[in-house]
This record gives sequence, structure tokens and C-alpha cells, in this order.
Amino acid sequence: MTTAVAAPFRFFSLQVVRTRRLGPSLVRVTFAGPDLHAFHSLGRDQSLSLFLPHPGQSEPVVPLELGDGWWQGWRELPDDVRAVMRSYTLRALRHDALGQTAEIDIDFALHGVEPGAATPAGPASRWAARAAAGDRVLLLGPALADNRAIRFRPPEDTGVVVLCGDETAVPAATAILESLPAGTRARVWLEVPHAGDIQDVRTEADAEITWLVRHDGSPMAVDAVRAAELPDTERAYVWLAGESGRVRALRRHFVGERGVDRRRVTFVGYWRQGMTEEQLRAAE
Ligand SMILES: Cc1cc2nc3c(=O)[nH]c(=O)nc-3n(C[C@H](O)[C@H](O)[C@H](O)COP(=O)(O)OP(=O)(O)OC[C@H]3O[C@@H](n4cnc5c(N)ncnc54)[C@H](O)[C@@H]3O)c2cc1C
Repeated sequence: MTTAVAAPFRFFSLQVVRTRRLGPSLVRVTFAGPDLHAFHSLGRDQSLSLFLPHPGQSEPVVPLELGDGWWQGWRELPDDVRAVMRSYTLRALRHDALGQTAEIDIDFALHGVEPGAATPAGPASRWAARAAAGDRVLLLGPALADNRAIRFRPPEDTGVVVLCGDETAVPAATAILESLPAGTRARVWLEVPHAGDIQDVRTEADAEITWLVRHDGSPMAVDAVRAAELPDTERAYVWLAGESGRVRALRRHFVGERGVDRRRVTFVGYWRQGMTEEQLRAAE
């Protein structure tokens, strides 16, 4: 298999090293692989494309040639054979003694895997719920530390960083918080399904973090934000991610109701209610 793709992104063959349950709805999967030394990222909300095997396959099926034409080759494979492609965020990376990337963590929000779930799980959620050491995946990730799949880019004059998201955005938001320098003011609203999904956040920023627990009847982020005082709106930098409809509502609130300059708002729909990632990609 040829795995080189022109910088700044390339393919990495990875294996699961271990998994750890972070809460009822979140699982951390740690990966390693022989070519991970070429993986470079500044972190924050670094997004990645994961290629996962279907049940019964020992590894993800992708075209033999993963050069520039990989997308077309992957599309031409039968639907039920070609690897499932899904977007995730780099939660953390660790270096070896030589300073090269040795392991990466990805945190998966599990949905639809609990008995009696209203919406059945998608393939990525199902895969993550059962992931075990030795499982093989393919990753399309950065070979260049500063790359366009990092969207969190506060302007230099930012007075307050505002982060809002649901459980799919918790990995990115917590990685962003860890990266903020001491003294940065941050206001954060994170929605999670269960109280057990609340994470400890290590940050040097002056961060006020509000966890909104859906099963405990917390308000939705847009309502919680609407009710809050926000200092220094003119110099706010707002980052929003999660379910597309709720992200759009939050953006309307910040731009339309609070008057935040739209250029200071970064927003990304991470998933859309009722649509698989393939359907979302096709719709876009
Ligand atoms: C840039 C980017 C970064 C992302 N980072 C992360 C991350 O770090 N961690 C993470 O967990 N997710 C992340 N996501 C979201 C993740 O890609 C989607 O949730 C994805 O749809 C999951 O794939 P699936 O195969 O489980 O479900 P799909 O097959 O895509 O969808 C099946 C059904 O489940 C619904 N669904 C999808 N996700 C959820 C959910 N979370 N809760 C409830 N219903 C859902 C869909 O609407 C659909 O009806 C990210 C997305 C993007 C675009």
C-alpha cells in the first residue's frame, strides 16, 4: 500500500493501544502506529478523518494506491466494503524520547449504543463502543503542525474566548482550553448527556466553564448563553461546534442578538440530527 499524500496531510496506519471510558457517553481511544513519527499538529480543534472497518473486516478497506486519487478510488469501492469515513478531533498527542509523536488520543461520543436508544448508533459510535487493543484503522491526518484543519484562530486583540458545544465538541473544547495561555479570559458552555460525562479540565486560562447536563434538565446552550452576562463583546472570539441546527442557533444569537462581528465567530456543524455523515457530506 502506498500511503503518501502531498503535505500537509497524509495517511497513517494505526492500531488501538488501549481504551478508557471517560463517562457514560464518552470513550477515549489511544492509537499508535509505525509512521506516527510523521504526525505533527498544534492541537486545539485539529480535525482528522478516520477510516474504520465494517463489522467482520479485520482492517478498513481502502484503495491500494492512496496517492492524490485516493478519494475517487475510495468512492468507487462498494458501499458495504469501503471503509467508513468519519470526522473526529485530535484530543491529545504524546511524544517519545526523540520528540516524535508516539501516541494519539481520540475521544468518541457514543450515541445509540445503549439498549432501547431512539436513534440507532452509526458505524463509528458502534466501532468505538467495542474498540479493543490491536484493532486497525486508517487516519488521514496532518503532517504539518499548522494546517487548515485547525479552525480555532482567535484574533490577536481577543479580550474573551467563548466556547460552546455538545459532547462531540468536548474533545476540541477541552484541548483548546489546555492550549490557552495564562491570563486568557474564557467563557465556556458544554452540553453533555449525563453528569458522569463532565470532564476535569486542565487550563491556565481564567476560564468559567458551565456544564449543561441534558438528562438533568439543564437548559440548552443557546438559552444558557442568552441568560448570561458576557464581558467585552466587541473583542470576543466565539467558537461553536456540535449539532448543526444548534450551532446555527448559537451563531444567530452571537451575531444577531449580541452584535458580535461575524468574522470573530468560528462555527462548525459536527453532525446533523437525522443525517449520517455521508448524507451530510452529500447535502453540502
Ligand atoms: C470536524 C469534526 C470534528 C468532530 N470531532 C468529534 C469528536 O472528537 N468526537 C466525537 O464524538 N464526534 C466528533 N465529530 C462528530 C462525529 O463525526 C459525528 O457524530 C458522526 O456522525 C459520528 O458517526 P457515526 O458513524 O457514529 O454516526 P452516523 O452514521 O454519521 O449517523 C447515524 C445517526 O446518528 C446521528 N448522530 C450522529 N452523531 C450523533 C451524536 N453525537 N449524538 C446523537 N446522534 C448522533 C445522526 O444524525 C444519524 O441519524 C466531529 C465532526 C466533525 C465534522
